[in-house]
Amino acid sequence: MFLNRDDETKPTKIILFTSETKEFYYELRYIASEGLFKCHSCLKLKKHVGAKLYKKKNGEEYLMPLENEHVCEPKIYDAQNFEKPKTVPKSMFELYQSAKGVANKRMVIFTSETKKLIYEYCLTGNRYYCLECKRLNKFVTAKLIEENEDKYLELSKAEHICKPKKYNPKNFNK
Ligand SMILES: [Zn+2]
Ligand SMILES: [Zn+2]
Repeated sequence: MFLNRDDETKPTKIILFTSETKEFYYELRYIASEGLFKCHSCLKLKKHVGAKLYKKKNGEEYLMPLENEHVCEPKIYDAQNFEKPKTVPKSMFELYQSAKGVANKRMVIFTSETKKLIYEYCLTGNRYYCLECKRLNKFVTAKLIEENEDKYLELSKAEHICKPKKYNPKNFNK
């Protein structure tokens, strides 16, 4: 499994499972100067363990391991840690003023296209926090990402423990 392969700002990584059951893995990072993927944990222990990526004529890729054996312990694989964050498109949230008139301080996220129910968020630092969850000491956050003309939200992995509320646009000012 590859990570960050199309991301030029981060080194490419390979998640190498120790078995078919995918319970444990080694993480290899690409070392551009050597053209090799190396185990980062082993490198810290001054051992060069890794693999070289080859391509067959039919385009299929395969890894040839280097001779050294891992001196590190494989890590327990948790798929959640590798999932991309959930996102919310522009059409499914609205930004509003705070009670004091500060723009974009409040936000509502609709639970569905019918836009009848919402979760209400408030901006603290660079993240929006679900107000009800925060009162219950649970931090469910959303981050506003602006790319060119587009806007969307990236959600935290935490799930709401609050119930969504009825949406009344009169309660909010742009
Ligand atoms: Zn290793
Ligand atoms: Zn909530």
